Amino acid sequence: MEILSIGNSVLNLFFPRRCLNCDSVISSDNPLCVSCAAELPYTHWNADKKNQAYRKLKPLCTVSFAHSLLFFKHDNVTQKLLHFLKYHGHLSIGRLLADKTSETVNLSNFDGIIPVPVHPKKLKKRGYNQVIPYAETLAKNAGIPLINDFLIRVENNPSQVHKNREKRLNSIKNAFGLKHEKLKGNFILVDDVLTSGATLSTCANLIVSSTDSKIAVMTIACTV
Ligand SMILES: [Zn+2]
Repeated sequence: MEILSIGNSVLNLFFPRRCLNCDSVISSDNPLCVSCAAELPYTHWNADKKNQAYRKLKPLCTVSFAHSLLFFKHDNVTQKLLHFLKYHGHLSIGRLLADKTSETVNLSNFDGIIPVPVHPKKLKKRGYNQVIPYAETLAKNAGIPLINDFLIRVENNPSQVHKNREKRLNSIKNAFGLKHEKLKGNFILVDDVLTSGATLSTCANLIVSSTDSKIAVMTIACTV
């Protein structure tokens, strides 16, 4: 333990930890400095059932509940955190934000958590699905199973970023499949960001129409 902490001190001397938002040197394991962490734009939607996430999804699919932890805006601290999570493998960010979610939202009455999958080709290239650390920690904190082999991605769509809502919905319609149709219960579908709702509503509609299940949605962030 002592050798490890001396090793860490030497490492910190040459490669100091930096806040992912403002780049100031920090001493803790957290991804953000104290002042950037205090600026995290929490939605505080836990008491608001008809929140913005729910209102985005309601016209597109049947969801029993929807929640996002943070607001996502161009260039805000949430966007930077999710960028490091998705493209630079900072998987601890997902676990940390799941712990924050679990402090205010009780998911123990659900039957399991289903992460939105990435296509196997993308998984091979990137090495991980950025949603898993968040989904896995939510499941662990709530004492419910992570169901990671049920919903599958069958089409590898190009980036959705520059498409409008209608184009997104059309291009993603056939992108997902189910391993089987035996699932039964109340499940939480989890993704990193809720933008137009195209991905999440496609997955929710597929599960609800093919199995005897209800779906709620949880994302780390929601675009404003
Ligand atoms: Zn900072």
